[in-house]
Amino acid sequence: MIPAAFDYIAPQTLDEAVRALASHGEDAKLLAGGHSLLPLIKLRLANPKLLIDLARISTLNGISEQDGKIVIGALTTHYQIESAELLKKKCPLLPETAGEIGDVQVRNRGTIGGSLTHADPAADWPAAILALGGELKLRGPKGERTLGAEEFFLGPMTTAIEPNEILTEIRVPISSRRSGSAYHKMAQQASGFAIVGVAVSVSLDAKGSCEEIGIGVTGLSDKAFRAHAVEDRLRGRKLNAKLIEESAALAADGIEPLEDLHANAQFRAHLARVYAARAIKEAVKRAGGSRR
Ligand SMILES: Cc1cc2nc3c(=O)[nH]c(=O)nc-3n(C[C@H](O)[C@H](O)[C@H](O)COP(=O)(O)OP(=O)(O)OC[C@H]3O[C@@H](n4cnc5c(N)ncnc54)[C@H](O)[C@@H]3O)c2cc1C
Repeated sequence: MIPAAFDYIAPQTLDEAVRALASHGEDAKLLAGGHSLLPLIKLRLANPKLLIDLARISTLNGISEQDGKIVIGALTTHYQIESAELLKKKCPLLPETAGEIGDVQVRNRGTIGGSLTHADPAADWPAAILALGGELKLRGPKGERTLGAEEFFLGPMTTAIEPNEILTEIRVPISSRRSGSAYHKMAQQASGFAIVGVAVSVSLDAKGSCEEIGIGVTGLSDKAFRAHAVEDRLRGRKLNAKLIEESAALAADGIEPLEDLHANAQFRAHLARVYAARAIKEAVKRAGGSRR
């Protein structure tokens, strides 16, 4: 399929990109890995007059540890995250989630920033970033602002980012000594997108009770969300299989599940309960087994 004609620029710095975006307004679109945007352009569902390619802005790419947090540039690819030794040691939920995305080509080109901004209701990253209580840093013509993951996702393909803003980095806490995490999903076989996916990050106190827990759910509804009802039942308590299963039964409460040719609403809600229980159990096991 051949897209409509558009202009193309590839700024070298973030300032240049912000200026270009501000001066072209909604006629311009940012290009990261292109795995979601280019199909939309070819299908004429998006018709930008200008593409601003972020690929040459090196400050947007990379993984580091700063002030007790993991900082990931928006342009970092799924594969870079999947293979990062720092993350395997200090925030293993991220490489685990990255490894579940699409196929090798998708992971090589697709970026975490592109995925979060695209906000597909079946994307994997939102579940993990919500579970970790991540923050997203945005830069626009008026400067920088930071949003919590729960404030960022507003609906299907809709986020709190303004048309003149660029997502620059994602920050997540470093996993503590007695913490564990897991991501469980049922994938749509053709694309790999989640029919339902549940990411869990749990930390235990010295007595083995649940000190903190974050549960992010994707694929179930029109936007990824945190399963607060389940979290609230578990926080402060000793986590045994019976309590986890009873609590996970609340994973779809208050949610209107999506229905499509891959799964009806009832099946999606069932998957959310089953995968929540499995992911919590796995995360707790990993927290108990942690020697760090
Ligand atoms: C065959 C296939 C299978 C896939 N399977 C999966 C899967 O299993 N799980 C999954 O989660 N995803 C999957 N994806 C999606 C993939 O992860 C995409 O890479 C991702 O959704 C978009 O990232 P991108 O870097 O390609 O962004 P692009 O396509 O370049 O951009 C997407 C959108 O985000 C905007 N944008 C990009 N970067 C920024 C930024 N820094 N600031 C502000 N706006 C920005 C763009 O303007 C555009 O609107 C699949 C895609 C394909 C083609």
